[in-house]
Amino acid sequence: MAIRITNLLLMFAALLKSVLNETPLDKCCIVDMSHTLDTDSIRFPTDPEFIFTILTRGIEPEGFWLELNKFETPEHIGTHMDAPSHFARDRWRVHEIPAQRLVGAGVVVDVRNKVKRNPDYRLSVSDLRKWEMLYGRIPDGAIVFMWSGWDVRYPNKTSTFNSNTPEDIRTWHFPGFHPSAMSWLVQNRNISMIGVDTPSVDYAQTSVYDVHQIMCNASIMGLENVNNLAKIPPSRSLIVALPVKLRDGSGGPVRIISIFCDTDKSKYC
Ligand SMILES: [Zn+2]
Repeated sequence: MAIRITNLLLMFAALLKSVLNETPLDKCCIVDMSHTLDTDSIRFPTDPEFIFTILTRGIEPEGFWLELNKFETPEHIGTHMDAPSHFARDRWRVHEIPAQRLVGAGVVVDVRNKVKRNPDYRLSVSDLRKWEMLYGRIPDGAIVFMWSGWDVRYPNKTSTFNSNTPEDIRTWHFPGFHPSAMSWLVQNRNISMIGVDTPSVDYAQTSVYDVHQIMCNASIMGLENVNNLAKIPPSRSLIVALPVKLRDGSGGPVRIISIFCDTDKSKYC
C-alpha cells in the first residue's frame, strides 16, 4: 500500500512540478497513443465507411486562406472508446462519462511473447498478478492495457484481423482480455478503463463478447486500436483519454496521451 501511494504521489508531483515550470516539460515524455483517423482506419466490416469531404480549401475573394471540411464516421473506428452503454442498458453514454474517469494511471501488461505463440491468446489473471509482483498493486482509477504488439499491423486489414478474408468475422484471429481477467479486475480492483492494441477487448474468436458485457456492466470504459504501447513505461505514467463528447454515443474516436516525467526519458522518447 505504501509503495502504491508513493509511486502515484511521485508521478503527480513530477507532473505538477512541470506545470508549475519547476521541471521544464521537455524533461517529460508526452506520447500520442492514437492512430490518425482517416479512410484507412480499422472498422468492423458491417459498419459504414469513414468519409472526409473538403468543403472549402483555398483563397477567399477577400484574400484570406480558408479550409473547411466535413466528416462522416461510425463511432467504433480507429482508436476509439467504448462507452458502457455499448453493451449494457442504462449505463453511461459517451457524453455522460465523468471527466474524472477519463484520466488514470497507466498499467501496461506485456503479453507479446504469449501472443507470438498463440494469436488467440487472452490476457489472464496470472498476467495481471505478474504485473503486480513487478510494479505493485494496480492503482485505483487505473487504465489497464494489454500490450500484444499488434499496433504495428495497423491499418493493414489482413494483418490486423490476421485473416486473408478480413470481411468475414469468423476468420479473424487476434488477442484480447480473458473474461475471467475482466471479472477479477471488476471484483478485486477499482479501475476506470481497459485498453487493447487490437480491434476489440474480446479476442477475435468470441461470439458472445463476454469481456465487453462484463466491462460495460461495471461502468468501465474500453479503448481499442491503441497505438504506441512500446513507447510508454509499464507503470507510473498518467493516461488522458478524451473521446469526442457525442450526445447519446455508444463510443467514439478518442485522443489518448501518456505523460511521464520521472522515468529514464532516453528509453522512451
Ligand atoms: Zn468499440
